[in-house]
Amino acid sequence: MKHISEYRDPNLVRALLDEICRSVTQPWVLMEICGGQTHAIMRTGLDQLLPPEIELVHGPGCPVCVTSLELIDKALSIAAEPDVIFTSFGDMLRVPGSREDLFSVRARGNDVRVVYSPLDAVKIAQENPQKQVVFFAIGFETTAPANAMSVLHAQSLQIENYSILVSHVRVPPAMHAILSSQGNRVQGFLAAGHVCSVMGFWEYPAIAEQYQVPITVTGFEPVDILQGILQTVRMLESGEIAVKNAYSRAVTRSGNRQAQAVIDKVFKPCDRKWRGIGLIPQSGWCLREDYSAFDAEQRFSVDQINSEESPLCIAGQILQGVKKPYECEAFAMACTPETPLGATMVSSEGACAAYYRYARNHVDIS
Ligand code: SF4
Repeated sequence: MKHISEYRDPNLVRALLDEICRSVTQPWVLMEICGGQTHAIMRTGLDQLLPPEIELVHGPGCPVCVTSLELIDKALSIAAEPDVIFTSFGDMLRVPGSREDLFSVRARGNDVRVVYSPLDAVKIAQENPQKQVVFFAIGFETTAPANAMSVLHAQSLQIENYSILVSHVRVPPAMHAILSSQGNRVQGFLAAGHVCSVMGFWEYPAIAEQYQVPITVTGFEPVDILQGILQTVRMLESGEIAVKNAYSRAVTRSGNRQAQAVIDKVFKPCDRKWRGIGLIPQSGWCLREDYSAFDAEQRFSVDQINSEESPLCIAGQILQGVKKPYECEAFAMACTPETPLGATMVSSEGACAAYYRYARNHVDIS
């Protein structure tokens, strides 16, 4: 299949691994930002094929994982209201809040539905005018255009019973937070290709320059990932500080201007709390005043919620590249995909889920 098999070609993979081995002369810590890349690396075993000098640590680019506990608890509260149809992508249903998850709310008879697009939620609102329909609008820059479009679509159809619970987060402020944190170990970044396909990478040279870290825009197939690692290692070894694009078939420097315009029309930057990490200034998007009528947080009274994280969960340190999942004492013991204590064990992009699924038999968890 075009753009699948050619980027999984074993000969190309071997050639790139050989080139990486030839290029590296000392230890380097690289962070892949996106959880999709983490899963691809673990699923294909690339982490074990790389030379021992290269350590990959896993970044916060898993939208399900970083949606704040407070917002999950607000979602649970709204979903439990009578006359509400609460809609969400499937991953979110199993994410633990302080006391339960959306599946539990549904099991009590509330109307919680999985949708594959926010436009499906708008359609549900259109078909159920007597109900309030809420869409859980989570995600990075990748999902923001579609979520913004759903608001514009609902507005154009004059649908008044549709709102979104917004938990949008942005990559560049998270990179600043990681690189300026005390325990930072990251020396080079593999930037998330799909985020850059929307936003471009024009924001990254300033980050590279400020923190003296090379950055490579990287895709998701084995050849893409190894090309990203190779370019980053070459820059590290030569002392070059720059931003390179190893995903040029999908990404341009300026990104998708139309998608950016839709985001900018509906959302504005705001402070955002990240689960396990804390508040990162200007790291989120919220609805602009013009669209506040579509804001579920304003439509429902959900301010007074005391949220409580499991004391065992160290997901925040994992999402900042400080620790690995197997360093959590609950990993594969108290915390499994069936009994998750944190969101990183639930999400299809979560680092703990990746290690549990692909690597728990070959990492030391004793
Ligand atoms: S293994 Fe479970 S408890 Fe430990 S950090 Fe991951 S999600 Fe949290």
